[in-house]
Amino acid sequence: MKRNKKIILLCHCILNCNSKVEGLSLYKGADEKILKYLIDKGYGIIQLPCPEVTVYGIKRWGHVKEQLDTPYFRQHCKEIFIPYLNQIKDYIKNGYKIKGIIGIDGSPSCGVSKTCSSSKWGGEVGCEFGIAEKIIDLKIINGKGIFIEEIENILKDNNLNIKFFSIDEEDISTKNNLIKLLQDN
Ligand code: SF4
Repeated sequence: MKRNKKIILLCHCILNCNSKVEGLSLYKGADEKILKYLIDKGYGIIQLPCPEVTVYGIKRWGHVKEQLDTPYFRQHCKEIFIPYLNQIKDYIKNGYKIKGIIGIDGSPSCGVSKTCSSSKWGGEVGCEFGIAEKIIDLKIINGKGIFIEEIENILKDNNLNIKFFSIDEEDISTKNNLIKLLQDN
């Protein structure tokens, strides 16, 4: 039997950059460096759903965490994760190892260590609506995105201890760090 019963869950856009807000991807389709490593090491890979594209579609604007921090979006995040929770439980019960969940730092949904923030971002776009001030107020802060927060809560409620890892697409060193962390864990 060749399977090694080792599984990792990835945020959706690591396997499909087309879910990202248009203009944001630095790769053509899937993140080759991360995937090559995971495939070479024999991981089974589960792709989580993209919480943003399944609500707002591909023509959405980039959001900040404050905009997504609503009961409606949190509810959506919970609902789309439940089928994956059930898979995780079943795999663990049958002796499989869930190595972790890889998120996307900087995302208002999938950030693990960093997310994007602004109290001013939103409303109409245009000079007459203060777009310059809104842009200046955008910042990356330490913290999780809404989807990751909800996943973390659900795992905790189910007494599941699963590690979170992350990459930042714009910082290649985070991919090297991730590979090192996976080797060490
Ligand atoms: S970071 Fe999360 S919300 Fe953003 S495109 Fe990737 S999977 Fe979707």
